[in-house]
Amino acid sequence: MNPLRIDVRELERGPRSLKAGLTARQLNLDEGQVRVSGKVAVHLTAERQSQGGVRVRGELGVEMELTCARCLEALSRPLTAHFNQYYQSNAHHSLTGEIALQKKDLEVGFFTGDFIDVSDIVREQIVLSLPMKPLCQEDCRGLCPACGRNRNRDRCRCGPVVSDPRLAPLLKFRN
Ligand SMILES: [Zn+2]
Ligand SMILES: [Zn+2]
Repeated sequence: MNPLRIDVRELERGPRSLKAGLTARQLNLDEGQVRVSGKVAVHLTAERQSQGGVRVRGELGVEMELTCARCLEALSRPLTAHFNQYYQSNAHHSLTGEIALQKKDLEVGFFTGDFIDVSDIVREQIVLSLPMKPLCQEDCRGLCPACGRNRNRDRCRCGPVVSDPRLAPLLKFRN
């Protein structure tokens, strides 16, 4: 069962809060793109709005498994993100696809029937919050371009790499 599935009918009686811990599998996270350690903690409140839609507000917290962009060492980093999404029933907008498209631009989510699945927005927030170039430390020295050693740990004697224009034609064949 999906713990992030909200029964809209229950909201007629008032807002509903829920707390859940989800596995990467439950959230359908693409392991090639996002790796997490442990569960994704989600805390949210869903509330009926006067316009007929449902507002879902909440936050998530997770420990990300990342790779340093310079030295390629594994690192883990906590990530928190907030979300605030307005959902409308598809039933009100089945007339034209065009309206639905415009609404989508305004960040309105849609649901069909009596249930809203919030896992899409949780997954989206995690992916959006991924750092582009994670670093194990601000001044990570990265790998030596000559011998490949991790320069945070070892001091190799390669020195600065000198590029020799006479070698350039040869280097082309290495790839
Ligand atoms: Zn590093
Ligand atoms: Zn080296």
